[in-house]
Amino acid sequence: MTDYDMLVVGGGPIGLYAAFYAGLRDMKTVIVDSQTELGGQLVSLYPEKIVYDVGGYPGISAYELAQNLIEQAKIFGPDFRTNEVVNSLKKGEDGSFTFTTSKGFQGRTKTVLLAAGIGIIQPSRLGAKGEVDYENKGVYYAVKRKKDFAGKKVLVIGGGDSAVDWALMLAPLAQSVTLIHRRDQFRAHESSVKQLYQVAKVMVFHELKEVVGDGEKVTHAIVFDNRTKAETTLDVDAIVISIGYKGDLTPIMGWGLNMKGRDVVVNGNMETNIPGIYAAGDIAQVNGSPKLALIATGFGQAAIAISVAKKYIDPKSSLFGGHSSEMDKLKKS
Ligand SMILES: Cc1cc2nc3c(=O)[nH]c(=O)nc-3n(C[C@H](O)[C@H](O)[C@H](O)COP(=O)(O)OP(=O)(O)OC[C@H]3O[C@@H](n4cnc5c(N)ncnc54)[C@H](O)[C@@H]3O)c2cc1C
Repeated sequence: MTDYDMLVVGGGPIGLYAAFYAGLRDMKTVIVDSQTELGGQLVSLYPEKIVYDVGGYPGISAYELAQNLIEQAKIFGPDFRTNEVVNSLKKGEDGSFTFTTSKGFQGRTKTVLLAAGIGIIQPSRLGAKGEVDYENKGVYYAVKRKKDFAGKKVLVIGGGDSAVDWALMLAPLAQSVTLIHRRDQFRAHESSVKQLYQVAKVMVFHELKEVVGDGEKVTHAIVFDNRTKAETTLDVDAIVISIGYKGDLTPIMGWGLNMKGRDVVVNGNMETNIPGIYAAGDIAQVNGSPKLALIATGFGQAAIAISVAKKYIDPKSSLFGGHSSEMDKLKKS
């Protein structure tokens, strides 16, 4: 079994920053994330969006910000485990924690940082015939790289901000964009909806019935009018389903943590009710403080959590580890 000083549950922006900061404090760290790509919501939910409110970046795409965080996290060489869920966490009599992942990996750690955000990110599916069979073969739940849609006949499904934004974003480079929505009301800015009607074919009161393909890729979509049940076959080669995401907190719910709704309650030291377990970022609710689910807020919380965890492991160490100018001594080549 591998021994660590710190297990970071979740490789979103806050987990990645925490892994860097733990390295700065010379803690042997492992970071586990359920997604195939690190970056959490930045990569899974809005990679092409520009983020304007992270210090030091007047504007940066979410995907690029995630890549920078990964690069920074790598500086001290933590273990990265992706496409893997931390399923169980048990505290032993010596105070250390044993954790097991969905790939059967077992580790022991002195401390744990929960940076699990909204939980294991999973797209909401429609359940239409053929939908699952063609996932990543023409059926997508996010626009990760818009250039992948260049020249394609795209069907976007949904009526929220993301669906409308993606349709607008793809319209200039796709061969055609059709958007279907089950109602005639959109949960998107009025100006965006107005623009949408100019650049895309919009079919309200329409839903997806079936994804049709040749086994390798999508060729058609059968949609229906939910008022009349009349069906229309659309010639498409990419379908973007944007009806929201779910965050699954099931594993964490079973670890004996004090929770308030979907949040793990922490004090100002980012300590949970279990000594040695900390939380930061979207999953954390600091008792008595307003919750701002923002990247900037989470970075600060991660720095506090790691500093407190360092002192928990080594009471002789100082809480404040100093400025990053000293880090060259620690850097792994
Ligand atoms: C559309 C949209 C736009 C946004 N725009 C901005 C913005 O402009 N500026 C801003 O500051 N914030 C923005 N946010 C909010 C920001 O994305 C979040 O505050 C941030 O992602 C929180 O980071 P996190 O690391 O705490 O969690 P997340 O990004 O949610 O990452 C958590 C990761 O942990 C994984 N995970 C969960 N449980 C487990 C487990 N048991 N085992 C393994 N892995 C697990 C999840 O799958 C996920 O990958 C936006 C959010 C959305 C949805």
